[in-house]
Amino acid sequence: MADRGTAVVTGASSGIGAATARRLAAEGFEVVIGARRLDRLREVAEPIGARALPLDVTDPASVQAFAAEVGDCRVLVNNAGGAFGLDPVATSDEEQWRQMYDSNVLGTLRMTKAFLPKLEASGDGHVVMMGSVAAWEPYAGGAGYNVAKFGLRAMTRVLREELLGHPIRVSEIDPGMVETDFSVVRFGGDQERAAAVYEGTTPLTADDVADCIAFVVTRPSHVNIDTLLLMPRDQAGPGKVHRHD
Ligand code: NAP
Repeated sequence: MADRGTAVVTGASSGIGAATARRLAAEGFEVVIGARRLDRLREVAEPIGARALPLDVTDPASVQAFAAEVGDCRVLVNNAGGAFGLDPVATSDEEQWRQMYDSNVLGTLRMTKAFLPKLEASGDGHVVMMGSVAAWEPYAGGAGYNVAKFGLRAMTRVLREELLGHPIRVSEIDPGMVETDFSVVRFGGDQERAAAVYEGTTPLTADDVADCIAFVVTRPSHVNIDTLLLMPRDQAGPGKVHRHD
């Protein structure tokens, strides 16, 4: 099998991160995964021979401890994040906005800062940011999540420019509806409300997104896929969803 070096995937205890860890291991990467729920992380890691390490991207000390445990790194997939609530701006919860900004934006910043020296030293580094269609089109209720993912997209563009001339690629993956625990988390554990998001549609799966990430990180070193925006056929944007009878 190809020896592709080490790939770090954050938020790999479920959903897109777990699928990405599995796929990158199958592609020949040494995989290191991080998240807060260590039991679930170990369940993902064990069958694919990955290393599972505790990680809370909102905690600078946790990010430092995680980075200290990882030797070399060639690919960093900044996937940890998510949304809280669907409240309009008028009644939005400031604490939820703070949490979304902390995990999606500052968490990605902390991880990227901690790993840039290792990525540079690899001679062929790659940072992958998990954006969203929410980074492109604001939607009623998107509010704090839109702001966080728009912010992340801005950071990604800045980083791409700052790293010109360095051996590090920067890519952003922007999925539309993917059926994972995302909506369950967004609605505070309300399974029924989460299921309604995907009702009557064929959403993307976590494996569909992992497939795109695998494509992006296995292109030849001189090819930088800057942005990959993907949605299910049943979706043409946030809130623009076709539901079958
Ligand atoms: P998910 O199944 O809820 O997975 C979220 C992952 O992020 C979990 O592994 C969670 O692990 C981890 N995480 C959350 N906060 C963290 C923190 N502070 N530190 C470390 N890990 C943290 O949802 P998903 O759909 O796979 O979401 C993954 C990413 O895709 C997110 O950035 C999300 O915004 C983005 N996205 C999702 C969709 C969608 O429709 N599903 C669409 C576009 C973009 P622990 O709880 O164990 O820490």
